Amino acid sequence: MARTDAIVLGAGIVGTSVALHLAKRGMAVALVDRAGVGEETSYGNSGVIEGSTILPPAFPSSLTGLLRVALKRASEANYHLSFLPQVAPWLMAFRANSRPQRIAETARLNRPLFARALAEHETLMAESGATQYLRNTGWMKLYRSERAFADLEPEFALAREFGLPLDALDAAGARKLEPSLNPVFKRVVFWPKAASVSNPLAVTRAYAARFAKLGGITLNGDARSLHRAGRGWRVETDEGALDAPEVVVALGPWAPDLLKPLGLKLPMAVKRGYHRHFRAEGEAMLARPVVDVEYGYLITPMEQGIRLTTGAEFAARDAAPTPVQFDRLMPQARKLFPLGERADDKTWVGSRPCFPDSRPVIGRAPGLSGIWLAIGHAHWGLTLGPITGVLLGQMMAGETPFCDPKPYMAERFL
Ligand SMILES: Cc1cc2nc3c(=O)[nH]c(=O)nc-3n(C[C@H](O)[C@H](O)[C@H](O)COP(=O)(O)OP(=O)(O)OC[C@H]3O[C@@H](n4cnc5c(N)ncnc54)[C@H](O)[C@@H]3O)c2cc1C
Repeated sequence: MARTDAIVLGAGIVGTSVALHLAKRGMAVALVDRAGVGEETSYGNSGVIEGSTILPPAFPSSLTGLLRVALKRASEANYHLSFLPQVAPWLMAFRANSRPQRIAETARLNRPLFARALAEHETLMAESGATQYLRNTGWMKLYRSERAFADLEPEFALAREFGLPLDALDAAGARKLEPSLNPVFKRVVFWPKAASVSNPLAVTRAYAARFAKLGGITLNGDARSLHRAGRGWRVETDEGALDAPEVVVALGPWAPDLLKPLGLKLPMAVKRGYHRHFRAEGEAMLARPVVDVEYGYLITPMEQGIRLTTGAEFAARDAAPTPVQFDRLMPQARKLFPLGERADDKTWVGSRPCFPDSRPVIGRAPGLSGIWLAIGHAHWGLTLGPITGVLLGQMMAGETPFCDPKPYMAERFL
């Protein structure tokens, strides 16, 4: 039986970043996953490192918006009717947290993480030889109506408070940056300080390779085999049983599968999202992620082609995929950008692990000594993986954390 200082369960971007940070501190760490490194949610995202994210996504504030979703006319969201009773308490809590004052409070509470997110990626990329995947080209949000743009004043006020630059452009200004966009939109906000990656899977794999260079081991195993052993914890892996005094749960949307049987019930739901890849027609080019805000989708250049990702779908994590949002949004996407043939033959689906207050849980697992949590990064797990590693590393080492970790504690739900 092997013994380590810490076992990290889940090798997505969050678990891999945590494992790497612990290894950098000289700890003997094992990273355990039942699949390959970075192959689940951390594979299929939009690749945006949102150093300039301000506001979390909110519950529709207008009756019209809500009705469009309810009647399944909205391209930005979908739901499975059969899932609504199960997710109703979470949705009510999410709605309460979507009030303007609460949203601004969430932005301020999450800010310390976002403010350092890109710098931490840059550090890890430099150490891991992964800088070729990074594009410091910002991202762009397009607004087809003046009305949608007029709603942005609270976000602009927070941007000023946080010292985040932005350029409010018209269609002509946006086309100077992205000439292949058709001017079907009126207004644009360009966030120059955001970055993106051309291959999220390759980035997580590069961080895992760096972890291995520092002596970390990656093993196959089922996290649900975790049980107490003596004064620590044991997990079964393909290489045999592994013991450690400390365990980090970084299982993304699968965290409840482990935590519930251990008696820890946290209000995590998933917002599913899909992607497809397309070739660009002719000479069309895209240099950065572009969001078509009112239709709720994003297009971004990836190594595989132009990746189009969808907004939220409220459905059971393991339910069969229902990529109906593509039917609703494709005509609009094709009007915006000359998308050609599909560059893949299947539609990817993943699950954003979300708490209703749009904050991750980073810290000790209440009532489970030796267990730490790094879960619930929602729409921003790629962005926040490395900074989560920094914060958790400091907490586990008993150092003064770089920011107040209280807003991210699981206790807020108990
Ligand atoms: C469509 C879409 C677009 C997105 N775009 C962005 C974006 O642009 N920028 C951004 O920052 N974020 C984005 N996100 C969110 C981001 O992808 C997630 O927050 C992030 O990937 C979560 O990482 P994770 O490591 O927590 O989870 P995961 O990547 O899901 O990792 C969890 C790991 O746990 C493993 N696991 C599960 N169960 C077990 C078990 N029983 N035993 C062993 N291992 C197990 C899985 O195999 C997996 O490897 C997007 C998400 C989606 C769906």
